[in-house]
Amino acid sequence: MSINQKLLDRNSNQCELCNEQVATIEYTVSPKNDDSIENQVAICEKCSAAMDNKEASFHWRCLDGSIWNPEPSVQALSYRILFGLKEEGWANDLINLTDYDENTIQWAVSAYEKAPLHIDAFGNTLEAGDTVVLTKELNVKGTNFTASKGTVVKRIKLVNDNTDQIEGKINDQTIVILTKFVKKSL
Ligand SMILES: [Zn+2]
Repeated sequence: MSINQKLLDRNSNQCELCNEQVATIEYTVSPKNDDSIENQVAICEKCSAAMDNKEASFHWRCLDGSIWNPEPSVQALSYRILFGLKEEGWANDLINLTDYDENTIQWAVSAYEKAPLHIDAFGNTLEAGDTVVLTKELNVKGTNFTASKGTVVKRIKLVNDNTDQIEGKINDQTIVILTKFVKKSL
């Protein structure tokens, strides 16, 4: 995979994290997509390996340069890595030197926030594709049937913006069901 030249040009082909090695990898800073270099950082093999190695904190002292990079993606990734090491005084000191805007910090720390979960009546985490059983008789709005307690609903979908709701098919109709009225079939 060739790396985007415009991305490379941003730091004269050097890794935007360590500024020491030639950049060979396009790193996309989650949760953003790889559709714009503004969401990406050009990094080297060494930094890429260090990101997968929890013992590599010594390597990240190189971020004392990258935190001054004007690109929000580089700032966000640098901050994210340092935030993960903030128990170490030097990393916390570097974090405190930065003066990033709120959006960049939010982007950086989003990696540490747990996504809200859909939980059934018994505290089990629900996932798309799960099978659930109704724990209560439900009057299904907008239809002429009642779903009895014990009805099995296969291949549920999670409602993205509401962790209290899932969707599933009963009698061939897709309906919204409250998570508190289902039990995950384990
Ligand atoms: Zn590097």
